[in-house]
Amino acid sequence: PIALQNLLAGASSDALDGASLPSFLQPDKEDIKNGLEGCIGNTPLVRIRSLSEYLGCEVLAKAEFLNPGGSPKDRVALSIILKAEEEGRLRPFSGDKLFEGTVGSTGVSLAHICRARGYLAHICMPSDQSLEKSNLLLKLGAVVERVTPAPIVDRKQFVNLAKSRAIELTADCSTPARGFFADQFENEANWKAHFETTGPEIYRQCGKKLDAFVAGAGTGGTISGVVKYLKQYLPNLTAILADPQGSGLLNKVKYGVMFNEITEREGTRRRSQVDTIVEGIGINRVTANFEAGRELIDDAIRVSDEEACLMARYLVEQDGLFVGSSSAVNCVAVVKLVKERGWENSNRRIVTILCDSGSRHLSKFWAKIGDIGGRWDTTIEDILKAGEQK
Ligand code: PMP
Repeated sequence: PIALQNLLAGASSDALDGASLPSFLQPDKEDIKNGLEGCIGNTPLVRIRSLSEYLGCEVLAKAEFLNPGGSPKDRVALSIILKAEEEGRLRPFSGDKLFEGTVGSTGVSLAHICRARGYLAHICMPSDQSLEKSNLLLKLGAVVERVTPAPIVDRKQFVNLAKSRAIELTADCSTPARGFFADQFENEANWKAHFETTGPEIYRQCGKKLDAFVAGAGTGGTISGVVKYLKQYLPNLTAILADPQGSGLLNKVKYGVMFNEITEREGTRRRSQVDTIVEGIGINRVTANFEAGRELIDDAIRVSDEEACLMARYLVEQDGLFVGSSSAVNCVAVVKLVKERGWENSNRRIVTILCDSGSRHLSKFWAKIGDIGGRWDTTIEDILKAGEQK
C-alpha cells in the first residue's frame, strides 16, 4: 500500500516509491510561513485524473483556490500594495486607505492583505450584488460602500467612485492620510505579479515541459503574466483564452476587433455587461493587463454557461473537486482544445487554472447546477453535446 504521507502535499511523484519522505516530515527541516503574506502563492499543480484519462493528455491545474484569500487575486493584491509602498503611495499604520471598485475576489484579497499590512480597505460595489459578498468584506475589516448600479461613463459608477474617493482623501487637508486607488484592471502590477510568481511556479512544477496553457480573463492579468513568462522559454507553447458566452475578448484575440454577438445584434451600441452566469471572467473592453499579453495569445475558445455548469458537476462527480464558474470554463476550454486540434491520446501536457472554490458561488452558479446528491452520471459527451446545441 502507498503510505499516506507520500500521498499528501509536499510529496513529489518520485517519492511515491517510499524512498524519501516529503520535506514537511523531515525532522531537521523547518517549514514556517511568515504571516498571511507568506501563505500566498506556491500553490500545488494538480493532475485532474478524470480529464487526463478521458483525453489521453495530461491535464494539470494550478490550484489557486488554495491561496489564503481563496483565489489568485492574493498575488495581485500583494503586488499592488508592495509597489504602492515602494513608491511611497501607501504608508503602513499612517491612516492611508486603499480604495477599489470590485465585486469579486480582488476585494477579499485586498481586505485580508490591507489588514496584515496596516491599512484600511474601502471597497465600492454595486448594490445589486448579493449581501453575502459585502458581509464577507465587512467581516474581513473592510469598509464597504454599496452604490446604485450605473453605466461605466457615470461618475458614480462603483469603480469611478472608488477612484474619486481616493483622490478626495489625498486632497483633504484636514488629515495627512492619503488615498490610493488599487485599479486592478489598469495597474500593471497585476500581470507582473503573475509574471514573477505564477508563471515561474508553473514552469518549475512542470519540470520545464508543457505544451499548452489555457485561462480566462477578467482583468487579463493571469493570462498575460503567465504566457509572457512561459513563452520566453517555450516559444512553441499554445496559449488559449477561455472565454465565457457574451464576452468580447474572443473576437479581439481571433480577429483583432472588439465586438461580440450582442453588439453585433444591437448595432454599435456598446454593452459593458457580459451576459453570463460565470463570474470573474469575460469582459467587453481591452484592459492594460489584457493588452500586455494579447499578442502572445494564439487562439480563443468560447464556452457557454450550460457547458460550464456541466463541467462543474463532472469535476465533483469524478474528482471530488468543487470549483467555481471560471475554473469550470477553463476546463471546458481544455477539452475543446484537445478535440479541435486532434490531440487525443497524444500525451500533451496542458496547464490551466482552478481559480476559486465552488463555495464562493453557492447562490448563483451552484444554485443553477443544483444538488448532485448520489448522482454519478455526467459525462464529457454531455458537456460537448451542450456545446453543439448553441
Ligand atoms: N476567476 C475568478 C473567480 C476571478 O475572480 C478572476 C478575476 N476577476 C479571474 C478568474 C480572472 O483573472 P484575471 O483578472 O487575472 O484575468
